[in-house]
Amino acid sequence: MSAFDVINPATEQVVASVEGLEVDSTDEAVARAKQASESWRRVAPGDRSRLLRRFADRVDSDIENLARLEVANSGHTIGNARWEAGNVRDVIAYYSAAPERLIGQQIPVADGLDVTFHEPLGVVGTIVPWNFPMPIASWSLAPALAAGNAVVLKPAELTPLTAMRLAELALEAGIPEHVFQVLPGKGSIVGQRLVDHPDVAKIVFTGSTEVGRQIMAGCAAQVKAVTLELGGKSANVIFADADIEAAAATAPYAVFDNAGQDCCARSRILVEQSAYEAFMAEFEVAVKKVVVADPADETSEMGPLISASHREVVASFLPEGSPIAFRGSAPEGPGFWFAPTVVTPESSVHRLMQEEIFGPIAAVMSFATEEEAVRLANDSHFGLSGSIWTRDLGRAIRVSRAIESGNLSVNSHSSVRYWTPFGGFKLSGLGRELGPDAPFAFTETKNVFFSTKE
Ligand code: NAD
Repeated sequence: MSAFDVINPATEQVVASVEGLEVDSTDEAVARAKQASESWRRVAPGDRSRLLRRFADRVDSDIENLARLEVANSGHTIGNARWEAGNVRDVIAYYSAAPERLIGQQIPVADGLDVTFHEPLGVVGTIVPWNFPMPIASWSLAPALAAGNAVVLKPAELTPLTAMRLAELALEAGIPEHVFQVLPGKGSIVGQRLVDHPDVAKIVFTGSTEVGRQIMAGCAAQVKAVTLELGGKSANVIFADADIEAAAATAPYAVFDNAGQDCCARSRILVEQSAYEAFMAEFEVAVKKVVVADPADETSEMGPLISASHREVVASFLPEGSPIAFRGSAPEGPGFWFAPTVVTPESSVHRLMQEEIFGPIAAVMSFATEEEAVRLANDSHFGLSGSIWTRDLGRAIRVSRAIESGNLSVNSHSSVRYWTPFGGFKLSGLGRELGPDAPFAFTETKNVFFSTKE
């Protein structure tokens, strides 16, 4: 075991010291999970449901505490952090109904009865990034538990605290010991071991495309099931016929929320030429209004970046001579602050238009036709999210069908609802999370034929 410090990104103060697991202790945790999964899968569906409902209730009664922990550990604004803790409660409550609904099929056959069963996988390993530690943990944890699996969860090194608290709440709710374990530690040690461990039946990975590729290769070696939720560079496409005022007023929050550290950030803003000037004038006012302040302050709309090194990476996207159009403000002094910044690169091949920055930098370009808008929106290796602003219904349908992305919204920026499927096209990932079918992704379908011949 080796201890590592958890830092408050708004103050640079140490919040906690956490023991990281090594390979041996990870193996021990997987062995405990495997054993626990044997009895958990046999818990009657109604009882598993009841335990998950209790877990959701415990999270509900701990929302303020979880939110404060996230503010201190991740620099999320208190408003966002409360929403995130509430999302965990809702996700667990939603999937608490799943154990009684893991319904198989009865398929007509001659001379017998044919039925399918959804068998739990056993032990599910879930590897979580630092940008939304709580919701992302719950999106795999809840449906996997509901389907009768044990879960071993590796939080990001920078942000383990809320996941560790969730494990305590699960125990308090009566979820049996070792059914849900949190394993803090390094990705290269604990995460890699979960990928390589023969008793981990599936990996759910959310993180960078680069690490996702390695994880998929590791899983391939064992033909292990894998879900990948990776990066994004989503487009916010604004047509001249749209409500430009609303599009401009909401665009900052669609990219600067969580300081831009959001896989769904609409970081490429594409505006129809005839509305470009009007949009930019209103957008500038809106960007300058974003309240970048101490995330514990109730009025704060954007906190700091997660770490000093991440701030360096974000800053490296703006060398001398970058096409900066305007910037918002950020506090001075301690904390990994970075002011919201709007850039206007001339071409879609510019790295500001192509690479995921994962910080508060938005790139704006104009387009002339609907065809060009679609071409620019699709000119990306990623395909996670995006928005389309238009009052023309036919265009909204055409463009939303043409954009290569897993989650789109028209005349809004909503992206993740736990009861609808979520995931990416292209390098943004593989597989889907959330929605009504998620528990089935944590099962194997078994077909059994019963002969009725005498
Ligand atoms: P990351 O890939 O560096 O790390 C993610 C997790 O993987 C961490 O827990 C890390 O410890 C672990 N890890 C690192 N190396 C590993 C290895 N070799 N084996 C196993 N595990 C390993 O990503 P990050 O910097 O924490 O998060 C930012 C990235 O996550 C961005 O690219 C963002 O777009 C993406 N993301 C995607 C979604 C989505 O749903 N598509 C959601 C949130 C974040």
